[in-house]
Amino acid sequence: MQLTGARVAAGPASTNRRDLTIRGGRICLSITAGQGEREMDLTGYLILPGLINAHDHLEFNLFPRLGRGIYPNAREWAADIFHPDVSPVREHLSIPKPVRLAWGGLRNLLSGVTTVAHHNPYEQAVFDRNFPVRVIRRLGWAHSLDFSPDLASRYRDTPHNRPFILHAAEGVDEKAAGEIARLEQLGVLGPRTVLVHCLAAVNADVDLLRRRRCSVIWCPDSNLAMFGRTVTDELLQSDIPIALGTDSALTFPGDLADALRTARGRGVTRDSLYRMVTSTAADILRLRDGSGSIRQGGVADLIAVEDRGQTPAEALLDLRPSFVMIGGRIRLLSGLPDSGKSLNPIYVEGRGEFLVDADVAYLNDQARIALGPDYSLAGRRVAA
Ligand SMILES: [Zn+2]
Repeated sequence: MQLTGARVAAGPASTNRRDLTIRGGRICLSITAGQGEREMDLTGYLILPGLINAHDHLEFNLFPRLGRGIYPNAREWAADIFHPDVSPVREHLSIPKPVRLAWGGLRNLLSGVTTVAHHNPYEQAVFDRNFPVRVIRRLGWAHSLDFSPDLASRYRDTPHNRPFILHAAEGVDEKAAGEIARLEQLGVLGPRTVLVHCLAAVNADVDLLRRRRCSVIWCPDSNLAMFGRTVTDELLQSDIPIALGTDSALTFPGDLADALRTARGRGVTRDSLYRMVTSTAADILRLRDGSGSIRQGGVADLIAVEDRGQTPAEALLDLRPSFVMIGGRIRLLSGLPDSGKSLNPIYVEGRGEFLVDADVAYLNDQARIALGPDYSLAGRRVAA
């Protein structure tokens, strides 16, 4: 397949006008398409690398935001919201988990995400080639100090060439503030350690994370909703690698496009933001297949947006994908012809109509059985 006529991102601030040939799910920059190869005219569009959402819990994205007000730490939030036998949690949990996971995949696909770090067990039977997005398989994880008594052994069992991801310092009280020091005592801070949230990390903690070469995943909207603040400027302005994540709709009714705008409002440069959802995220998550970039031989995970003369980094602040390709397969179109006639329509409140490569009718039926017709996907009404 050949993608023709578009401007193609070469970095956050630069583009080239070039055609892209896709072979075997990978990008070939050096050859042009052969005769009879399918061509898709993307004149008037800007092609970017598919985005990476570094933190989500995919099965919780039909849920409404749960909890009341501001909490001192994540443990108190969890104790307040975990009532599986009470509405609305009961109704949501009655939806088959593969269906809830697929909706979580769709939430990401609709915002231009092609790869997700799912923070829960890897569901081998669900995350197959028909799942809406790529889910990273090769990673180690633990929930947190509070909920993972086996945290240290999970860290030790994670190979050195894979990330080890855990929630840490998620709160604003002394308990949260002491977690980085406790992780150091446990011996689990190292180059493969990736700490989600870290909003209680200040001064000595930031210095320690830098010395231990740890990375951070930042979920600004989730932090603001639960705790009224997010990570310190000191952490944001440090040279600690940071990727951006959404977290689930339990704490954040929105998607990665919303998270990008919130993060920009915290004074992060556009170029840094671009890297937080592409190249830096790929480095932190140890993705070696070309994810987060457009390069010779890399996976053909690409998105396209309308070309208004913006830089690739500027395009992320007003993101609505018109095209999403994952591994060379078109998974979403909007305003572009579906020549294969294989995609299904979905309407998303505030975003409009899309065609997606998913069994939307089935997913919609399953959601309606449990929740009625007025359900939302991460805060936005959807209709099939
Ligand atoms: Zn989380």
